[in-house]
Amino acid sequence: MSTGLTAEILVLRGVPNYFTFEVPAHLISTAIPGSKVTIPFGKGRSEGIIMSLHEDATSEHRLKPIEEVSEGMTLPKSQVDLIKWIADYYQTSPYIAYQTVVGTKKTRLKDIGEPPEFHEFKNPHTLTGEQDIALKKLLHFPTPHTALIHGITGSGKTELYMQVAHHMIKQKKQVIILVPEIALTPQFRKQFKARFGERIALLHSGMTAKSRDIEWTKMLAGHSDIVIGPRSAIFSPLNNIGAIIIDEEHESSYKQDSTPRYSTHTIAHYLATDHNALLILGSATPSIESYYHATHNPEWSLIALTTRPNEASLPPITCTNEIAPISSQLLTEIKKRIEAKEKTILLLNRRGFSTYISCTKCHHVLACKDCKLSLTYHKDRKLRCHRCYLTYALTHICPKCKKTSLNFTGNAIQKIETDLKQLLPTAAIIRMDKDTAPNEKKAAAILEEFKESGDILIGTQMVAKGHHIEEVTLVGILGIDSTLNLPDFRSPERTFQLITQVAGRAGRGQKKGEVIIQTQHETHYAIVAAKTHDYPTFYKNEIAYREQLYYPPFSILVNIIISGEDLFAVQQQTKLLHEYLANEFKSKDIQMTPPNPCPVDRVREQNRWHLLIKSPHAHYAHIKKSILNRPLPLKDVRILVDYDPQSLF
Ligand code: ADP
Ligand code: ZN
Repeated sequence: MSTGLTAEILVLRGVPNYFTFEVPAHLISTAIPGSKVTIPFGKGRSEGIIMSLHEDATSEHRLKPIEEVSEGMTLPKSQVDLIKWIADYYQTSPYIAYQTVVGTKKTRLKDIGEPPEFHEFKNPHTLTGEQDIALKKLLHFPTPHTALIHGITGSGKTELYMQVAHHMIKQKKQVIILVPEIALTPQFRKQFKARFGERIALLHSGMTAKSRDIEWTKMLAGHSDIVIGPRSAIFSPLNNIGAIIIDEEHESSYKQDSTPRYSTHTIAHYLATDHNALLILGSATPSIESYYHATHNPEWSLIALTTRPNEASLPPITCTNEIAPISSQLLTEIKKRIEAKEKTILLLNRRGFSTYISCTKCHHVLACKDCKLSLTYHKDRKLRCHRCYLTYALTHICPKCKKTSLNFTGNAIQKIETDLKQLLPTAAIIRMDKDTAPNEKKAAAILEEFKESGDILIGTQMVAKGHHIEEVTLVGILGIDSTLNLPDFRSPERTFQLITQVAGRAGRGQKKGEVIIQTQHETHYAIVAAKTHDYPTFYKNEIAYREQLYYPPFSILVNIIISGEDLFAVQQQTKLLHEYLANEFKSKDIQMTPPNPCPVDRVREQNRWHLLIKSPHAHYAHIKKSILNRPLPLKDVRILVDYDPQSLF
């Protein structure tokens, strides 16, 4: 006898749709949305998740019944809804959406012990006037609401996060705190543990499967009030989220760069709405999009923290246009610091020994044969392509004019390290980049060594983030021009962010700090504004340019990348897709570039072309539908769709 109850089931296999099964009488009490079930599938069986239940007494079809329900493995309802939403929003299969949210197969552990007691330790600080006003505002918004906290480095944003967490926990609600990279989780965890005790979960992809199972089970069992982690922690299985906090919200790591290419902000916004929660974005250099919404959208607010509680002032920033590896001005200042037993940080946003190798006779630039990207010389006497990581043997002969006239220009990190060691033979110089700090542990050890005994820390972006070393009184920024000149509309924004961030490392203690930028673009608005610590002016310039060129926040972008080995086929496919879409997009508000090669038009022997679509939000659904219904691609051509791309390479 049919019960008339059917279940829509997500089959845990690479199949594109949901399937309907009957709920037999003996499983009616255990089969609920979120339950893990066993179903007959194909010639065998499969596992699945119940997405929804339906009364379907009239069903003519004889549906197969669910065989079994795995007890204790039920996903919270809000996660079930989230999976559905992601599959739809990012036009991906339900199974990929499930893997994104739930991750690899999880086992719910039997014994996770008693829930730790809630414990709150005394706050060592009284809030500053600004913090106090900010907190009152944050707690009085009718939710759901998004608040952007624009607070200068060291203005006490973390303290505010803790206050908000305190408030939510008192109301029996949970808080998710996202940090831009795994390396920053331990320090956050330490601070939160010191304040709130043990009811804190940690979630990131670097954990063992076992520890992930433990954290997961604890969250499902309600043993955790606060979850801290990088972007994937947004998928924590929590029942009653009170606040989601995205720290350093401008960081591009909040965008996932493999399928589904989700943006953490978008998911967080969906969840905040679903849980009626407060979404907090914090940054010293907010993304242009967030700042725009915070000042234009009634469901958003802007909260500014403009001072530091310990009254350390922001360091003065000067520019020098002498960019030869290390300018004399910077060198003089470094020497002064060494004598005074103070420390210097040098930022160079590029790896390798020299930036590129060119012929002084014929001006040929040595480039990767596949990617056409200029090669970088490394000290192991190899030339490397930093896109496909192909290595080439060192040569001194120009491959084009065959003369021994190659010039190893540029000033990348290893070369500066070598130069500095010659100029300052007694100084303790420490390098931090992907080569010396391939993981979190090594990075922490390098920072510790620098703190203990270093004079100069030289490195990539890594030296710009998070750490607090009071003896640092000088920051030198080298090679920022290559960041500024990248062919991407976000380059000025990234430049402003990077300068502000690394400048924030100087003068955090008693002694005043100072920053020197080596640049030939001293009058560029991004550099002028960074120099004067003036975000609003930077924003004003940048937003005008975004509006003029119809970039986000005035449009949303969809980047379609067409790639394949055969250049002709790729071009042909791009043209066909362009014709199809042009026919679909009748509204003149939707703009699409003509077929064009990508800025990086070859990667690993693949030719890459693209179509960039700019459109108002109102047409987003239509655009997605058109893209989804596109004709099948030509043979051996791949089409990749990036919604809200963070980079256009
Ligand atoms: P941000 O996250 O904005 O960079 P933090 O929250 O890390 O800033 O605060 C910077 C420093 O100021 C920390 O050492 C913190 O302990 C301290 N601090 C924060 N709020 C206060 C306060 N109200 N009174 C005194 N010190 C504070
Ligand atoms: Zn290459």
